[in-house]
Amino acid sequence: MQLSKRVQNITPSSTLAITAKAKALKAAGHDVIGLGAGEPDFNTPEHIIEAATLSMKEGETKYTPSGGLTTLKDAIIDKFKQDQQLTYIQEEIMVASGAKHALYTIFQALLDEGDEVIVPAPYWVSYPEQIKLAGGEPIFLQAKEADDFKISKDALSAAITSKTKAFIVNSPSNPTGGLYTKEELQALGEVATEHDVMIISDEIYEKLIYGDVEHHSIASLSDELKKRTVIVNGVSKAYSMTGWRIGYAAGDKALIKAMTDLASHSTSNPTTPAQYGAIAAYQSDQAMVEEMRQAFESRLEKAYEQLIQLPGVSCVKPKGAFYLFPNVKEAAEAGGFATVDEWAGALLDEEKVAVVPGAGFGAPDNIRLSYATSLSLLEEALQRIGHFIKRTS
Ligand code: PLP
Repeated sequence: MQLSKRVQNITPSSTLAITAKAKALKAAGHDVIGLGAGEPDFNTPEHIIEAATLSMKEGETKYTPSGGLTTLKDAIIDKFKQDQQLTYIQEEIMVASGAKHALYTIFQALLDEGDEVIVPAPYWVSYPEQIKLAGGEPIFLQAKEADDFKISKDALSAAITSKTKAFIVNSPSNPTGGLYTKEELQALGEVATEHDVMIISDEIYEKLIYGDVEHHSIASLSDELKKRTVIVNGVSKAYSMTGWRIGYAAGDKALIKAMTDLASHSTSNPTTPAQYGAIAAYQSDQAMVEEMRQAFESRLEKAYEQLIQLPGVSCVKPKGAFYLFPNVKEAAEAGGFATVDEWAGALLDEEKVAVVPGAGFGAPDNIRLSYATSLSLLEEALQRIGHFIKRTS
C-alpha cells in the first residue's frame, strides 16, 4: 500500500513514544517512574463529572452545532471578559475537540502550500507537524537558554519573509515553562503589525503560573493586536480534563467560520457531554483550579532545588506549565553518551526513569521532566537521575 506523501512526512510524537516504552517496561514488572506525562495527575473535579453525567441523563446525547453549544460559547465569552478583559461574540468562537484540534483546524483554514509559520524553538511537538500537514512550512526560530527561551523582537523581525503568514506564541510554554511579560508581548505584537502577519497565541497553560508573575494574552494588549490574533485555549490543563477533549479558538469571524465549516465535515462537533462538563468547569467555583496550581507550584519548588544540585545539569526556572526543561548535555558527555537521546534511553533502561528527550522539541541538549506526578515519586526519580549521572561519569 502506498500511503499519502502527507502522512509519510509526519514525525510521530516523541512524548507519546517515551510514554509507550515506559508503559511496556511497567507492564513487564519493572518499577518505572514516568516523568513523560503531559497531563495533570489529578482526576477531573467531581462537580464537572456530575454535570456531564446529568446532561446525558437528561438526553443531551445528540449532535450539537459544529462550532459548539451556544451556552458553552457564552461561558467561554464570559471567561475571556473576566480573565483578560477581552470581548468576543459567538461568531468569533469555535469549540473544538481539544486545543490540539483547534490548532490543527487553524492551520488547515489559514495556510496554502508554501506559506510559512514562525515557530519559536523549543516548541510543542505538534506545531511543526500540523503546519506541514496543512502544506505550510514551519520556520524555527531558536530561543536561547540565556534568554529564558524567549524570542526577541529583532529575531522575530529577521525571520519574517514575504511568505510568513503567522507566528506562534506559546506562553506559558510547553516544554520550557517560559512566560512572556506584557512588554515582551507588546514588542512582538509591534513586529506582527509592522509586517502584517497573524499571531497564533496558545494559552492552554494560562492558569498554571508560579511565583510573582502574571499571564497576559497578546490579544488583550490593543484592538489592533486582538484583530490579528487567534487565541487557543481549553479545559485540559486548568481543570484536569485532558481526556474530555474540549478546546477552543477565538479570533476573526471569517477564520472561525472557515474552521467551523471544516469541522462540520470532520468531527461534526466536540463530544456533547464533554461540552456540558466544560460549561460546569467555567461556571462553577474556581477554587479547585487554584488548589491544583498550588500543588504544582510546591512540587516545582522542591524538584527544582533538587534538580539544580545534580552535576552537569542546569535549568532555567520555569514560570508556568508543569515541566522542567534542564540542559543535561554536560552530564551526557561526562557519561560518554554521544547524544542526550542516548543518555535518556540509558536512563530509562538502567534506572527506570522515563523523561522526554528534548530533540523532539527542537532542543537536543535538554530533557523534559513533567512534575504532574506525586512529590514522592518526583524526588525518587531525581535521586535515581543523580545516581545515574554519578555512576556514568
Ligand atoms: N498546546 C500545548 C502547548 C500543549 O502542551 C497541549 C497539550 O499537551 C495542547 C496545546 C493541546 O491540549 P488539548 O488537550 O486541549 O488538545
